[in-house]
Amino acid sequence: RAKMNRRGGYEYFTRNMGVEIRERVLLMHALRAAFEQKKLFLVFQPQIDMRDGRVLGAEALLRWKTDEGKFIPPDKFIPIAEYSGLIVDIGEWVLRTACMELVHLRSLGYTNFQMAINVSQVQFSHPLFMQSLNKALTDTKVPPQFVELEITESMAMKDPELLIKTLHQIKQLGMSISIDDFGTGFSSLSHLQKLDVDKLKIDRAFVNEIQKNPSEGSIAKMIVQLGQNLGLSIIAEGVESEMQANTLLSYDCHIAQGYLYSKPLTRDDLHAWLASR
Ligand code: C2E
Ligand code: MG
Ligand code: MG
Ligand code: MG
Repeated sequence: RAKMNRRGGYEYFTRNMGVEIRERVLLMHALRAAFEQKKLFLVFQPQIDMRDGRVLGAEALLRWKTDEGKFIPPDKFIPIAEYSGLIVDIGEWVLRTACMELVHLRSLGYTNFQMAINVSQVQFSHPLFMQSLNKALTDTKVPPQFVELEITESMAMKDPELLIKTLHQIKQLGMSISIDDFGTGFSSLSHLQKLDVDKLKIDRAFVNEIQKNPSEGSIAKMIVQLGQNLGLSIIAEGVESEMQANTLLSYDCHIAQGYLYSKPLTRDDLHAWLASR
């Protein structure tokens, strides 16, 4: 048997699987080291009112540049951080750093600036999450009404009771909540109605789809209508073209984030970008 396997697909498969696991473990160690050496950083992507170009705030996005100068995308390292539990510490750091930046922006005169911060499911379900959120607010003295937490739709399915309770506590603290990548997570609509959220973020895929199919039957339009019916705000992510922006405006969605307006910017670039407007 073993001999047969050696030449067949089985061994090939396990050998490759070994490489994959090894790569993941290496990446996990490198990520932990990068985090401990304070080499992770945040970039900020502006959010715009498309009707008048006003800047409403920004979303904080995590970046990792290795010592070799290579960028590892968050879609690759966040799952590893989640899998290893590192996300709890990293997420707390993201929260505090984004709050500190918000305080800094406020001191520069941007006193209506909203900061959106991504929160992972693993971080969110951690028993000490609310405590660390509270501490980040009090330590940085950031006014909570300018902080928005982005959670994903799939979270809504894992533990509905805990979710409802935690969302309620977050709202009590004065922060707002948006559902990121909305439309991709298959959460039930009746469930959505029970959640104390403020905003839906239309996933980039549906904004992208507008380009090919700007019809009235598009999913983006359905999400806007759903949001309106539930009394929620709507923001479109990944807006890259004027055509998409105009179509979204015609749907009555007027807040956007995307390359059309700005890529995610480093702290210094954000300050320069804001000052130049
Ligand atoms: P997301 O929260 O949905 O963030 C939006 C992603 O779309 C970002 O990718 C952003 O750079 C990208 N994007 C923005 N505008 C455009 C556009 O016009 N066109 C295209 N093609 N892309 C655009 P990024 O920064 O690579 O982040 C990917 C995902 O990683 C995020 O998706 C989020 O789920 C996760 N992530 C990033 N930072 C954090 C973090 O601090 N904590 C957690 N838990 N997750 C994070
Ligand atoms: Mg997000
Ligand atoms: Mg998103
Ligand atoms: Mg997305």
